[in-house]
Amino acid sequence: MPTLFTKIISREIPAKIVYENDHVLAFEDIHPQAPHHVLIIPKIEISTLNDLTRENASYIGEMMLAAKEIASKLGMSSKGYRVVMNCNEDGGQTVFHIHMHLLGGRAMHWPPG
Ligand code: AMP
Repeated sequence: MPTLFTKIISREIPAKIVYENDHVLAFEDIHPQAPHHVLIIPKIEISTLNDLTRENASYIGEMMLAAKEIASKLGMSSKGYRVVMNCNEDGGQTVFHIHMHLLGGRAMHWPPG
């Protein structure tokens, strides 16, 4: 089912886009949890990580490559950053179009809350 992220891809809803290629789109999270908080989404509808298959799994690699590139552009490569994907209720997923959170610009804690 289309979500607001599909509408960001089609530009029906505005977003601060920081990166785009044929496979993925990345934009600033509206409620940042770190000085840098970017969401990286595939340009196809995959609701949750449970819907990942051999046929669509290459999008995960594209999302990771985008995360690496954006982190570099934001100057986070050497100090570090975190990439998170939430799945369903216990994972804290609220938008059902898979996405990676790229977080950085401050030290992250482990384990997460
Ligand atoms: P999750 O909880 O993992 O599903 O993450 C969804 C994320 O989308 C949250 O961090 C929200 O702050 C973010 N978000 C919701 N609406 C928007 C929007 N219109 N533009 C940018 N980020 C959004």
